[in-house]
Amino acid sequence: KVRQVVRAAKERGIPIRVGVNEGSLPPLPSLAEDELPPPKPQRMVDAALWEIGILQEMGFEDIKISLKAFDVPTMVTAYREIAKRVPYPLHLGVTEAGTPGAGSVRSAVGIGILLAQGIGDTIRVSLAADPAEELPVAWSILASLNIRQRGAIILACPTCGRIEVDLIPLANQVEAHFQKLGKPITVAVMGCVVNGPGEARDADIGLAAGKAKGAIFRKGQVVRTVPEEQFLSALIEEGQRVIAEKLGGAPPAATGPADDPDAVIPMTAVERSARPGRVARR
Ligand code: SF4
Repeated sequence: KVRQVVRAAKERGIPIRVGVNEGSLPPLPSLAEDELPPPKPQRMVDAALWEIGILQEMGFEDIKISLKAFDVPTMVTAYREIAKRVPYPLHLGVTEAGTPGAGSVRSAVGIGILLAQGIGDTIRVSLAADPAEELPVAWSILASLNIRQRGAIILACPTCGRIEVDLIPLANQVEAHFQKLGKPITVAVMGCVVNGPGEARDADIGLAAGKAKGAIFRKGQVVRTVPEEQFLSALIEEGQRVIAEKLGGAPPAATGPADDPDAVIPMTAVERSARPGRVARR
C-alpha cells in the first residue's frame, strides 16, 4: 500500500508529509530491567527517521516533516534534533494546543522559539475553535518575529499614571479600522510625551498623546498636532497616505486581509540554522 501511495505521489509531483504526533508513537521495544525508555523527543525523531527511511529507499525525496506535541519543550527539542539530521522542510505546530487564549500563547511560544532559531518552513496553529481563528494567530506569530506581515500591526501602550487621554477605546478603534482595511502598516497608539514619541516615530504612523491633544507622526516626523477628539480621524488619514505610498496608487478601500494577497509583505527574515542541504534565507 505504501508503495502504491509513493508511486502515485511521485507521478503527480505531490509531497508526502511524515507526521509524528507524541500521542501516537510506535510502541516501545521491550527494555531490560535497568534500562530507561528513550526520552519522548528522541522517540519522535526516531519514528520520523524510520518513516523517512522507507520513503528514501523507494527513491522518494519530496518529503515534509512534522513532529507535533502538546508539550512545548518536547516539540522544540524534537524539531531541533530532526533539523540537524535531515534536509527536508519542517511543518511546525503545537498539537491540541487548547482554547483560543491559552492555545495561542502555547503555539506562539513553541513555534516562535523554533522560527527565531531559523527552524521551520510552514506553520499551523491548532486551536479548539473555528479554524478561521487560527489564521490571525499564525500571522501574528510571523509578524512578531518580523518574518512576514499581513495586515496591520498595532502597538498600544498599556497606560499608566502619566496618561491624560482615554487611550484604550482609541486603541481598539484604531485596531478595528486598520485590521478591517487589511493593509500592511504599523501604527503606534501611545499615551504620553515621555515614552510615546519614540514608538510613534518608529512606526509608520503614530500618536503621542499629551493633555487633551496629541502629536501625530508619519514616517518618523510630527506632521500635525490635533485635539483628542480628532486622534482617530487623523490617524486614519495619515494611515491612508502611508498605505497609498507603500502600495503605490490611490488610498485603499477596505478589503480585509483574507481578500488581498498583495497585502502580504516579507519582512526581515530570520537567519536559518545550518541544516543539511539547506540554504540560509534572508
Ligand atoms: S507610553 Fe506613557 S502613558 Fe503609556 S504606559 Fe508608557 S509611560 Fe505610561
